[in-house]
Amino acid sequence: MNQELTANQIEELAQELKGQKQALEQQLQDSQQSTAPVTLDQQSVGRVSRIDAIQQQQMAVANREQANTILKLINSALERIGAEEYGYCLECGEPIGYARLQVQPQSPNCMACQSILERP
Ligand SMILES: [Zn+2]
Repeated sequence: MNQELTANQIEELAQELKGQKQALEQQLQDSQQSTAPVTLDQQSVGRVSRIDAIQQQQMAVANREQANTILKLINSALERIGAEEYGYCLECGEPIGYARLQVQPQSPNCMACQSILERP
């Protein structure tokens, strides 16, 4: 079974979460323009570069969606730190474990529950 987090570990993960949150918010801000609808003039740019622009835009939208999803997880993790509930799996209530949280500090579930949740 996983160990509970120490105060120092929680503090460290909180710093990590805050750093990631800032980076994601910056990324979302920076990518705002690239997700605007493609309004290229078909006569001035070729068909290929129009498709290119649409693909790039779709990629930017997907990246933004992913960033938003992670940002939500980070925010709820920060809330749980504030409520002193951080580090416990939302599914089974067991400690998630420091090793896993070091890789994914925003993770709301332990490894066992996560693999069940990800099963199609
Ligand atoms: Zn669990």
